Amino acid sequence: MAPVSTVVPPSGYFLANRFGRVFLASLEETVGRNGLNALLNLSGRESLITAPPPDDVQLTFDTATVSALLAVLELVYGPRGARGLAMRAGRAMFDRLVDGFELPTGFNPLAFRLLPQPTRLKIGVPALARLVTQHSDMAGRVADRGTYFEYTTERCADCWGRASKGPVCNLTVGLLLEAMSSFGRGQEFRVTQRECRAAGAAVCVFQLDKEPIA
Ligand SMILES: [Zn+2]
Repeated sequence: MAPVSTVVPPSGYFLANRFGRVFLASLEETVGRNGLNALLNLSGRESLITAPPPDDVQLTFDTATVSALLAVLELVYGPRGARGLAMRAGRAMFDRLVDGFELPTGFNPLAFRLLPQPTRLKIGVPALARLVTQHSDMAGRVADRGTYFEYTTERCADCWGRASKGPVCNLTVGLLLEAMSSFGRGQEFRVTQRECRAAGAAVCVFQLDKEPIA
């Protein structure tokens, strides 16, 4: 078998180190310490085992480290297993991102919680996109399409350097699921990936339905 590390070479794009720490901690919560170490070894990122990224906001955590680990996750657990694990890791990232960086809603957290739900969604989703854009070389954008939000990611870390027949950005799907659930006070919403760079699209596009799942 060819070394997996050659599949996703360094990207030249970066996440804030703290963003990288949030990703690694959330993946560890999902697959365990040994599981994470195995994934780091298999993806050629074993140096991160002994030297995790520092807890700062410097943009030096390679975007390709995320996609390489997710590619190896799929190799080890199969597409279906990896999909569930990546979504769980993505969900686990949301609270850590909000704790580690401020969610730029323009409200203090208490005032934000008191807003009506449609307003929380309308303000919260673009605020998450801004947080991602501010602390990585990814660019998040949100468009209001009436019954749903369209969330677009440029230079998406999930699929950077990967090729696939269909969407693979399940980490982001999980992050968006948890964000919607948090803004919706525990209600669950449907999140569907519509376009994926790994499958030939220019950018990754996600549909976030505004109506909760009954
Ligand atoms: Zn993607």
